[in-house]
Amino acid sequence: MAETQYSERAHPETEPAVDWHARSLEETYEELETSEAGLDSQEAADRLDRYGPNEVETEAGASALRIFLEQYTSVLIWVLIVAAAVMAGIGELIDAGVIAGIVVLITLFGFVQDYRAEQSIQALEEMSTTYAMARRDGEKTEIDATRVVPGDVIFVESGDVVPADARVIESSNLRVDESALTGESVSVAKTPETITEDVTIAERENVLHKDTVVERGSGIAVVVETGSETEIGQIATAIEEAEERDTPFQAELDRLGKIIAGAVIGIVTVIGITELVIGDTEPVQVFMTAVAVAVSAVPEGLPAVVTLSLALGARRMAEQNALVRRLPIVEALGSVDVICTDKTGTLTEEEMTVTRLAANREIYEVTGTGYDTDGEIRHDGEGVNAERVGELLRCGMLCNNVELGRREDRDDESASGDGELTYLGDPTEISLFVAGRKAGFDHEDLRERYPRVGEVEFTSDRKRMTTLHETPDGDHVAYTKGAPEVVLERCTREYVDGEFVDLTDERRAELERRNELFAEDALRVMAFAFQPNGPETVSEDDEQDLVFLGLQGMLDPPRPEVAGALEGCLNAGIDVVMITGDNATTARAVGREIGLESARVVTGLELEEMSDEELADVVEDVDVFARTSPEHKTRILKMLQSKGHTVAMTGDGVNDAPAIKNADVGVAMGIRGTDVTEQASDIVLLDDNFATIRDAVRQGRRIFDNVRKFVNYFLSANGAHVLLLFSGIMSGAGLVMTPIMFLWINVVTDGIPALTLGVDPEADDVMERPPRPPGEGVITERIMSSIGGIAILITATLLPLFYYYNQVVGDLVLAQTMVFTAFVFMAIARIGAIRTRYGLGPFSNNRWLLLAIAITLTLQLLVLYTPLSVLFGVTPLAFGHWLQIGLVVAVFSILMAGFVALQDRYFDRY
Ligand code: ATP
Repeated sequence: MAETQYSERAHPETEPAVDWHARSLEETYEELETSEAGLDSQEAADRLDRYGPNEVETEAGASALRIFLEQYTSVLIWVLIVAAAVMAGIGELIDAGVIAGIVVLITLFGFVQDYRAEQSIQALEEMSTTYAMARRDGEKTEIDATRVVPGDVIFVESGDVVPADARVIESSNLRVDESALTGESVSVAKTPETITEDVTIAERENVLHKDTVVERGSGIAVVVETGSETEIGQIATAIEEAEERDTPFQAELDRLGKIIAGAVIGIVTVIGITELVIGDTEPVQVFMTAVAVAVSAVPEGLPAVVTLSLALGARRMAEQNALVRRLPIVEALGSVDVICTDKTGTLTEEEMTVTRLAANREIYEVTGTGYDTDGEIRHDGEGVNAERVGELLRCGMLCNNVELGRREDRDDESASGDGELTYLGDPTEISLFVAGRKAGFDHEDLRERYPRVGEVEFTSDRKRMTTLHETPDGDHVAYTKGAPEVVLERCTREYVDGEFVDLTDERRAELERRNELFAEDALRVMAFAFQPNGPETVSEDDEQDLVFLGLQGMLDPPRPEVAGALEGCLNAGIDVVMITGDNATTARAVGREIGLESARVVTGLELEEMSDEELADVVEDVDVFARTSPEHKTRILKMLQSKGHTVAMTGDGVNDAPAIKNADVGVAMGIRGTDVTEQASDIVLLDDNFATIRDAVRQGRRIFDNVRKFVNYFLSANGAHVLLLFSGIMSGAGLVMTPIMFLWINVVTDGIPALTLGVDPEADDVMERPPRPPGEGVITERIMSSIGGIAILITATLLPLFYYYNQVVGDLVLAQTMVFTAFVFMAIARIGAIRTRYGLGPFSNNRWLLLAIAITLTLQLLVLYTPLSVLFGVTPLAFGHWLQIGLVVAVFSILMAGFVALQDRYFDRY
């Protein structure tokens, strides 16, 4: 998702076209030709045609023209253009033409790479869709947020990003963070009341604004404006996309580029002066040589290659369900050494099934699996009358926000809201719903007879929720459900076979024991309680003096692929830590099932009692943090980071956003997650699956390896250019290649194969070696030694060849042609050697590479044997020359193998 920076804030005095806040709901409905029942799908489709998609047009994507022009911002391109102009000026038209041609090639290459990268990035942005809940055809329907139209009735709840500007119809404790729009950091309470005074945007308490965030509560509203017509749309259209920051890779390469540029200026000056003083070359040739050295030494192409390989890597990750929201993160992924993961839904399937109940001091089994409502309640193997546990199951169904609704087919472009009827809501609650239906309770009938009149929301901190209902005889009943210890602590009595019994300490201990026994079987346990004849309103203060109804234990099997993924992470030197809101026993049991042998479990409560020093001592040994609240995640994260770890942290709830934001790699859940966590994240798991994180890490490592490979290749070839040229001139052997040859090799014969290294497959051991130490850049000591070593080897083998043909045979053109051609083959041999280091065959498993080599060789032959030879100043080679070139390249390859073996003794593998 493109993140638009709203650098300007809405001016309070800006008047919107229509003062929606000043209209009554009836007027609003009338104006928009809608009603509280929302639109039908046909009408919605018509309106979508009429009003267009609900998107704010920003100048997000760079246009092709702009990308093309950007190629001309590089200094080196201008150096070449000036060189071409100088050559043309002095009448060297052929050279001028060739340089101009090379400029076109360089910019074309750059353009194609940048354009492809941009396309991949845009494709990724388009993939990250947000969904909105609207009432379509009378039913709650989850739709793509871009398909929201004026007149739609939408539902929002905490964690949602408001999809469009909308007039509030109903609100329940609804508070919205509007800082994106108004800059005001304090959230605003929203209510349906019509406002008659003249007010600023920040004071329009009955209007929700697009892209603001629901902080708590829930509400229903009717959409009044969409897309660019919304308040934020009006500001955003005027504002440019925020500048993308360079990735650390790019920054490192930039720095390197500058160092090299400095060195080049030095070398060029020395070569120039030497040539002028001792050589017999004309000043023009000297000038051109200087230009050629400059161009071949500076790794111009690298940043574009890096961006492209990051973008292509990100695209491949998206195919594997990991949506990269920030490109630089691909790099950080390779050095992740701790993954902190949620349990529910990430390690487990989250298709929960209530399998056991505890009520009336007895245990009941519930048969059936998944969301199928076939099943029954049994006791000691015999079916029982469901009314025996009726109050417990009713509590689970009423204190529950699940609804039957539709979800648009996400893959269908023309989706119009006629997806299948499914349960919409939290899987924990769905399982309670299903348990109730197995007992024959009809939720619609229940909800009609016991209409909900109040709610105290569930949050991960509270670990409970309460709803207040009117009973058929006009009384009120409050239902509470939540974590057993939290609910039990608020109960004073117990409901046993229709009787209210005092909850003795002894009974409490028994219930706690029961909870433990359920949890030891890896069940997720929730407790239920009620307050008959409750008050008419409900707040947090009323959640006390409750009557305990019982427990429901639900099975949430681990995802089958998780055990393997976990093992894979451990092999890759990555520690996995489970941080869950669930209870310690359940967490430990689930951990055991997936192979996370928890040496140590720490609960949120224990965590709070620990000082930073105490936590620092143990944090690296803990495998499971249980009963945590979202704030604990941030503390654990900070502690791990302070110990030098690179941490990936998952999360789904609103309150997880800070931890996700601060993590080195913030991972949000695509299915379960809220919009807010998604916005704070670097990567979204489209399938919520832990195994996908492992795959993303693997991709991150692969991409890093590939970047390293081509940096190594590029720089060692460039180093060789400079040294070869330099030693040729300094030793008096002469100009080993013409400037045009240098340019050609640099741009074409080095450039094309280097690109394809970016799509190399991963090394076999990519997940068997430890993570890259944080802070270790692309360029290692080994690569530095390669740059020097390879340059020496190439010079040592090519200079004698040149010397022989130039000085002994006395044919400069032939000498240059031999060196020129041999260099091309040496570069190919070098690629093979580098790939072998990464456990790949020299040229295997990358058909692009083979294609690139084929192109390079064909071009070389064209240059040698067609009229192009005139432009390059080469002479066709005879068979005997080819044999000599073969010999020299073979000698070079053997020397290179020896050199690599030597490197192995002194350096790490890569
Ligand atoms: P994880 O952190 O691994 O996703 P979790 O879902 O258990 O695990 P939370 O969502 O923070 O974590 O929930 C914490 C506890 O709150 C749960 O263990 C459960 O006892 C209780 N709980 C969860 N959902 C609800 C709900 N909808 N209503 C009431 N209580 C709930």
